[in-house]
Amino acid sequence: MVLSEEHRLVDALKRAGLKLTPQRLAIAEALTGDETHPTAQELYARLKPRFSSMSMATIYNTLGALTKIRGCRELEMGGATRFDPNVTPHDHAVCERCGAIRDVELESGEAPDSEPCPLPGFQVERIERVYRGVCAQCAEAA
Ligand SMILES: [Zn+2]
Ligand SMILES: [Zn+2]
Repeated sequence: MVLSEEHRLVDALKRAGLKLTPQRLAIAEALTGDETHPTAQELYARLKPRFSSMSMATIYNTLGALTKIRGCRELEMGGATRFDPNVTPHDHAVCERCGAIRDVELESGEAPDSEPCPLPGFQVERIERVYRGVCAQCAEAA
């Protein structure tokens, strides 16, 4: 499962026309299966110890290319741009205490992208719901 997911992002790198350098492969690998919705800075901090020549530009270029061909998704959340390797439609739950952003899988059969928007003339491309509250861990710790 994890392996095929990783292959998907490696394949996406190829489709984006990028050379498969060790750094780009490491970025794809780091993002694969990551459910924390990391920012570019977080990925950089994670990979810098392994690749001393890693630059923010490489991170941004690689993530940008992956996003463009829908290998991953860009999310604006919590005042930061985050990256989501899960490209199937899903919602998010944001914890207001620890800031964790979790995936919320849609009920099967649910097709949120086909709901009309109440705003006249607005053409819906996708619908993203955000649940805000306190996650189970924070609720337990309180
Ligand atoms: Zn929390
Ligand atoms: Zn997500």
